[in-house]
Amino acid sequence: MARILIVEDEPRVARGLQDDLVLEGYDVEVAGDGIEAVRRAHEGAFDLIVLDVMLPAKDGFDVCRELRREGMRTPIIMLTAKTEESEKLVGFDVGADDYVTKPFSPRELRARIKAALRRGGETVPAQYRFGDVQVDLDRCELRVAGLLVDTSALELKLLAAFIRHRGHTLARAMLLDEVWGHGTFVTDRVVDTHVANLRKKIESHPASPRYLVSVRGMGYRFDG
Ligand code: CA
Repeated sequence: MARILIVEDEPRVARGLQDDLVLEGYDVEVAGDGIEAVRRAHEGAFDLIVLDVMLPAKDGFDVCRELRREGMRTPIIMLTAKTEESEKLVGFDVGADDYVTKPFSPRELRARIKAALRRGGETVPAQYRFGDVQVDLDRCELRVAGLLVDTSALELKLLAAFIRHRGHTLARAMLLDEVWGHGTFVTDRVVDTHVANLRKKIESHPASPRYLVSVRGMGYRFDG
């Protein structure tokens, strides 16, 4: 069964989460502050980390950033009381996989955990190459013909989703769910805008794309 590390400083919340996830059959450990979180993440081979943002000693963003910088690719779901979109984007910037705002329902969190574990099982290589494009997800870098191209964290996350499901047609709703996170209030148009921006970066002819192709009435498919 999957091993989950919960990082939460409020004992009552931590215990509630732990009880709930143990009932689901997960093997659960709890860390109470950011420094302990980093230490425990190194020691135990966890399949997923649920990470509160507001923590003593070191906040959740710093913990996430640090683990990702070290190359740890364990799925991380961040918990926060803040609902601003900017907070969410900081989460993605530091390398979180998903984001749940407090107060959340245990059922909602369980669904996110299940989805993150499922995705975690499908491999996205840290380095991926197609045509003259090189993607380095560990370093968050995109290079075309050897030259570094300025790319946002969200665009890289979108490209990573395409790489993960290469060869499969992805509906906009599915991309929204996987890249922006379940329950975000953005429209399908946002997906189109980001795909268009990515095409400008990776396609030699963005108007007639070779890699990020449109599938009429369905969505997009990555043929890299
Ligand atoms: Ca907290």
